[in-house]
Formats: sequence, structure tokens, C-alpha cells
Amino acid sequence: MDNHQCIFCKIIAGEIPGDRVYEDESALIIRDVNPQAPCHLLVMPKEHMKDISACAGRGDELIGKLFRAAAMAAAKEGLSEKGFRVVTNCGSDACQSVDHFHIHVLGGKQLSERLG
Ligand code: AMP
Repeated sequence: MDNHQCIFCKIIAGEIPGDRVYEDESALIIRDVNPQAPCHLLVMPKEHMKDISACAGRGDELIGKLFRAAAMAAAKEGLSEKGFRVVTNCGSDACQSVDHFHIHVLGGKQLSERLG
């Protein structure tokens, strides 16, 4: 179900613009508006869910589709050879700022060794 207050739901619905790089029946990938690497993609389910914790108990299918889409998009962006990072922030300690589950795909430069 869509959440009409959610900025990513609005992008998914086409109500506000997003730089779309891939879309299928269950996933959307856009470029991050404030990129932290030369390539910074956001992979999200079309169905609104707050964070990765909300995926628990939903079965493997959606998570599998999102990670497959992330891997395919990274390859298409030319990141496969030198590598890339996949990360999702969950909740306030992780500084999640948009409460619609999304997976960051970052690459195109040497990334920091530190994750936390
Ligand atoms: P997080 O902090 O993990 O919740 O990541 C949210 C990401 O969404 C940030 O990297 C933002 O730059 C990005 N973002 C916020 N609004 C938009 C938007 N309208 N289009 C694309 N990316 C966005």
C-alpha cells in the first residue's frame, strides 16, 4: 500500500520526478539526488515498507528481487570490475532519513574502509 506522505512513494507513483534507471513490477531504482559517490543508486520496493526490519517475515522473494536488481544495475553502471558497496540504513542510529526501505549502491571511486 502506498504511503501518501512518503517521498519515495511519490516518485514511484510519478507524482514527483526521479532519475529512474530501472523499474519492474516490484522494484524501482533511481539515482540519489545527493550522490556520495560517482555512482549512487537507490534500490527500493514499490510497495511501501519502512525499513529492512519491516521485510522480516515477508519471505525471501522481495529481498531476492531487490538484490538481484541491485547487482544488475551495478553491472550496467560498469561497477562490477572494480567493485561497489551495498548498504541499507535502518532507524535513527543508522541515520535513516527516508522511511521507505531502500538499498544504497555506491561505486565509481575508492570507498572508505570504514562503515560505521
Ligand atoms: P537514508 O539516509 O539511508 O534514508 O538515505 C536516503 C537517501 O535518499 C539520501 O541519500 C538522500 O540523498 C536521498 N534522497 C532524498 N530525497 C531524494 C529524492 N527526491 N530523489 C533521490 N534521492 C533522494
